Amino acid sequence: MGYNSPLGAAVVIAAATGLIIAYTRFHPETSRAVIITYICTIAFLSIILSIAAWIYRKHKSSVDASDIAGISEGLNTEMIIWTDDFSAVYMNKRMRQQLGLSGTDFDYKKEIMRAFALKELNKEVVKDLTESNSYESRFKNANGVVTTIAWSTSLVKRKKKLSLYLSTGFNLTEIKKMKVNLASANDFFNASMELAEIGILMSSDKKNYVASTETVRMLGLKSNNISIKNFRTLVHPNDRIQFDSAIKSVDSGESAEVKSIDIRIRSADGFYKWYAYRYKSIKGTGNTLPLFGGAIIDVTQEHEKDLLIERLAYIDEVTEIANRNKLMDVGQETFETCRLLKYSYWIIVLDIDRFHIINDTCGYQNGNYILRNFAHIMYKFVTPGGLAARMSGDNFAIVLRDYGDDELPIRTAKAIQDEFAKLAVDDFASVNLSCSAGYSKMPEDGNSFLEVLEHAEFALKSSVGSNSSICGYEPSMHDSIIGRTELEKELAVAIKHNELQLFYQPKIDLSTGKIMGVEALIRWIKPDGTIVKPDSFVPIAESSHLIGKISEFVLNEGCRQNKLWQKMGYPNIVMSINFTSSDFYQADLRDKVFEALAKSGLDAEWLEVELTETLALSDIDYAVSQMNKLRELGVKLAMDDFGTGYSSLSYLQILPITLLKLDRSFIIDIEHDNIAYEIVSSVIRIAKSKKIETIAEGIENPNQEDILRKAGCDFGQGYLYGKPMPAEKLQDFFEQNIKQTSKKDQK
Ligand code: C2E
Ligand code: MG
Ligand code: MG
Repeated sequence: MGYNSPLGAAVVIAAATGLIIAYTRFHPETSRAVIITYICTIAFLSIILSIAAWIYRKHKSSVDASDIAGISEGLNTEMIIWTDDFSAVYMNKRMRQQLGLSGTDFDYKKEIMRAFALKELNKEVVKDLTESNSYESRFKNANGVVTTIAWSTSLVKRKKKLSLYLSTGFNLTEIKKMKVNLASANDFFNASMELAEIGILMSSDKKNYVASTETVRMLGLKSNNISIKNFRTLVHPNDRIQFDSAIKSVDSGESAEVKSIDIRIRSADGFYKWYAYRYKSIKGTGNTLPLFGGAIIDVTQEHEKDLLIERLAYIDEVTEIANRNKLMDVGQETFETCRLLKYSYWIIVLDIDRFHIINDTCGYQNGNYILRNFAHIMYKFVTPGGLAARMSGDNFAIVLRDYGDDELPIRTAKAIQDEFAKLAVDDFASVNLSCSAGYSKMPEDGNSFLEVLEHAEFALKSSVGSNSSICGYEPSMHDSIIGRTELEKELAVAIKHNELQLFYQPKIDLSTGKIMGVEALIRWIKPDGTIVKPDSFVPIAESSHLIGKISEFVLNEGCRQNKLWQKMGYPNIVMSINFTSSDFYQADLRDKVFEALAKSGLDAEWLEVELTETLALSDIDYAVSQMNKLRELGVKLAMDDFGTGYSSLSYLQILPITLLKLDRSFIIDIEHDNIAYEIVSSVIRIAKSKKIETIAEGIENPNQEDILRKAGCDFGQGYLYGKPMPAEKLQDFFEQNIKQTSKKDQK
């Protein structure tokens, strides 16, 4: 703090000194006395002035807010206390530092103008300063840094004509810097969100969202502000309930944790995309508003992957309809709904008849074509809430809602059968396309979906081979099917334990009485010695795919045994083996037969394969090609049970058979039934004309043998000669036969 009066005093002294010097020039005689008087006067004046200055200073300090200054000195804010005539100015330490002032003595007005960044400072400016709430000044501080201070000036005291003001400054320099930083932080934030592809939505009023730049980009929003109501319209209708409950949980303050829902939101391209909407509420503190909102992350790709996984898990690749997994899941759900809401559903299981033949004859690709078409036919009959599925191979299922129409499953299965049969054109013209069906009803036909499905499968098994080929489940089926299943398991074990054995029944040349061949007939000899006949287990083996193993055994064992007899010195005879349809239509049939012959060393002419009419005619073209392959090997072919099936002699023209086996049913009646006799003798005649040999099955008495011999039948087989017997017994028979016939020859 200081005062300006010394300047005036100096001027006065200088003027007085000048006058004294001029006087001494013109009046040298009195100059000495004058100078002494002048010096004394000056000394006196100085004393007076000093006293005046002291009094003046004292007077000034009465308007000085020294107390405020004392307190302000250490304050961390800029402060100036000043009088409006700028005769007294106090600047606190922080302000002095800003202006680079080392002490308290400085040019008050000049420094105040610097601090307030004013070009001029007069009463009006002072008035403006005090009247405005805030005045912002910018100046370069002592370190050369541009400093911005917002000033607030107020009148502290007015005494006489002098006013004392207090100006407090609020340094905005850091805040300005922060604003710049904040702007760049915002850019940084936006860039990060863009790179991470995360959209942010925040709301402080639970009505409107502030959307981040990335959200605006992702969803193609018009601005950063969107009401929650409008945002909701972008959410897929099916996901709105989920979205609403998310918003509600935020409302109720439940979501202090980050939660996430996957919802579809219409995006910038106009299409719905899957987003993970992660949300939480942020409680406001004293200074901040409560916020809620979240992040949206595009998870469409993950969802597509999930769909793919679901597709792989639930969709059948070949037919593109549901697979067994899906059927089981939906089926069980439907079963539970049925129990809960008293609904009923039908389950129809369908099986393409002889599908393996289609696969073998037409090739794998065509087989798939048939499966696909079958699936599509089935699909047409699915009603809302129902399902069509491929369970495995050629096994399909349809689930249909029941509306009290008991004929629905039969009608549906029949319609599928009819449509399917129509596919037998072009490449499939020669194939008989048919299917069998079994059905059951849920919830009444079982305690779970699996059980109801199994019961429909029982019905299907019962339908195979029956005339109707569509069969509904009845509880009585249960026991027989269970028995069948048990038998299947037992048979599998029996095959492993070599409980299967070939019996041989002799075939006799009716003209010589000599044994000319044997038919290998399979028997299952149980450990307790019980002999099970083929009729009880061959059909089961055929439906459960055990037949392949059985037939392989019969083929190899038959060849081996015949070769052994040849080696033992018995006359060469033909070994006949029986094939089922699934054996015969195997693509590698020829190779298997060839291998069995090679392994045993038996010449092909001593092996004969017996086929039934029905088997050969189910796919005549393929049958002929399979037969020709066997004939090319040199293997003989017999038509078994002739007369029980189509009995059309015209087939004898087409099928390359070498022997015709007249069915036992004709032979039983031949003695007393003229018609039976006529049929048998004309068949024999026609066969002869085609160079096909004939054999009569089931000859039980010499009279039948006699009639047949006279009718021209070449060979005979039946209890008259011998029942099917084990190999050792047949050897006895063989030896006996050789003895007897050689005696006859001698006669
Ligand atoms: P199939 O091929 O027609 O065999 C003739 C059946 O008639 C045999 O019954 C035989 O014992 C029986 N039989 C023969 N002569 C007489 C007779 O004078 N009176 C009576 N009442 N029956 C007679 P089996 O051995 O029970 O065979 C039944 C059917 O089982 C066979 O009919 C054949 O279709 C099938 N089979 C037998 N063995 C095999 C086999 O190894 N593989 C296959 N796939 N099927 C076989
Ligand atoms: Mg046979
Ligand atoms: Mg037969």
